Amino acid sequence: METNQNTRDGRNQSLWQKNMSKTDAGNAFDPAITYDVLIVGAGITGLTTALLLRKKGLKCIVADAHNPGYGTTGGTSAHINTFADTTFAEVEKAFDEDAAKQFAKSIAESVQLIQELIGTHGIDCDFEWKNGYLYAQTDQETRQLDDIFASSLRAGVEVRVTDQVPITVEYQKALIFDRQAQFHPLKYISGLQAAFAGLGGVVLENTPIHEIQTDNGIHTAISAGKQIQASKVVYATHIPPGGVNVLHFRNAPYRSYVIAVTLTNDNAYPDGLVYDMQEPYHYFRTHMIDGQKYLVAGGHDHKTGHGSPEQAFEDLISFTKKCYPVKEVYTQWSAQYYIPADGLPYIGQLPGASDGIYTATGFNGNGMMLGTAAASVISDLILNGRSEYEALYDPSRIKPIAGFTEVVKEGADVVARFIGDRLDFGKIDELSEIPAGSGAVVDYDGQKLAIYKDPRGNIQALDPVCTHAKCIVHWNNSEKSWDCPCHGSRFGTDGTVLTGPARENLAHRE
Ligand SMILES: Cc1cc2nc3c(=O)[nH]c(=O)nc-3n(C[C@H](O)[C@H](O)[C@H](O)COP(=O)(O)OP(=O)(O)OC[C@H]3O[C@@H](n4cnc5c(N)ncnc54)[C@H](O)[C@@H]3O)c2cc1C
Repeated sequence: METNQNTRDGRNQSLWQKNMSKTDAGNAFDPAITYDVLIVGAGITGLTTALLLRKKGLKCIVADAHNPGYGTTGGTSAHINTFADTTFAEVEKAFDEDAAKQFAKSIAESVQLIQELIGTHGIDCDFEWKNGYLYAQTDQETRQLDDIFASSLRAGVEVRVTDQVPITVEYQKALIFDRQAQFHPLKYISGLQAAFAGLGGVVLENTPIHEIQTDNGIHTAISAGKQIQASKVVYATHIPPGGVNVLHFRNAPYRSYVIAVTLTNDNAYPDGLVYDMQEPYHYFRTHMIDGQKYLVAGGHDHKTGHGSPEQAFEDLISFTKKCYPVKEVYTQWSAQYYIPADGLPYIGQLPGASDGIYTATGFNGNGMMLGTAAASVISDLILNGRSEYEALYDPSRIKPIAGFTEVVKEGADVVARFIGDRLDFGKIDELSEIPAGSGAVVDYDGQKLAIYKDPRGNIQALDPVCTHAKCIVHWNNSEKSWDCPCHGSRFGTDGTVLTGPARENLAHRE
């Protein structure tokens, strides 16, 4: 079923979804064609890859399980930076100084590519250059800031010290990264899609691809009554779907929270991208939509299925009120990202899959640049058989991950949750305790059930065992979804897959 709305993998509407109608899907699918490339997923990664390859004359088809922008690209905060969540100092430590320089170069080229695509294809997406401000408030944060400053310079990234951060809170020391940028992510990918369709590209909606069969170098996907054949496949699905892949253990899924608020004073909106260094961190920027300015604030991330989404929103709103004169919260939403085990994304041939099947994941909170970088790397691999970044981002690399203990801990947590939850879950043992419009995993008549009670009191009972790696899902009351704490699969209240890697819906238990 097609709607004229951009839907997203959560109940809350992001600022970008408001007043945004869908892009025309464009050209018709031809089952007689063996396409050069099937791109699975129509977020920033998939649509950029599709456009780059189509511009080089390849016959490309994009298939999305839902609609373009349904994944994190529809719920991002859309900062474009020359630095990343994994600092250049961390890359030097986990890899070496050359790797940090290469990482910086790849990011800088992706910023350039975004700008070029906007220019060449006349994409109207509110793109603006901005200064990026990073400020430290404690001695420890200042030491980290000094480390970021020195390692950014070593990596070739322009940065300088400033005392002009557009925020009222006190800070010890701050940096400016020049020529950062921001845009409207759904307008941007809508422009990519229109350019792709204008060149004859095909975009299929409501077409989940869970399995590919390969015969004589031709890959076949069957979905939604269609058989799609292609010489190459790119999983631009944010995390590869399907059975348990090594990449599911090298990426930890996180939820992150964003609000768009109006301020009482028009002059209080910051002109720039502002980041603190707290744990959990916060960021602020301004975006104008239909003549109205909004302060976009975000942070309070936690691992998916852990922590309380409602508390995260409450904390984010109250923190924002301390920093800016908030008049009204216009909208709030959350979305998912993946922290890679050694700090760098995984881009290239999908481990364990047939030749010619590629993937891109582990973008941390930097997928505007790294999704774009992934499109360049994968296009180069397909067109030329090589990319200058293929070793750096190789999904099969084996790196010591000592510096990234969080993800190592996450791995242990996967096992603990699996065993612990299955032996001892269900603190709520009566259906009547679940408020209308909410859900819980309960002990009910000797079984474990994921119960959702809709606003009218009707009950939807599901098997709470995630169909990916058998962990127990948790209720996310903010996005009204069942979230798996192990690898980040998410399901709707009726059990349908919202976010992979799971490909099977939660089973109904009624
Ligand atoms: C709150 C938040 C704020 C962020 N802010 C920033 C920021 O300011 N700057 C930045 O650079 N990055 C940011 N990020 C990260 C960035 O948004 C993501 O890395 C990026 O959007 C990922 O894009 P993608 O195209 O790879 O994946 P997605 O946008 O998730 O797209 C994947 C698509 O694949 C489809 N799909 C999935 N499985 C299948 C299947 N089996 N078959 C067919 N289709 C499938 C989905 O429907 C979806 O449309 C943020 C992330 C979060 C969570």
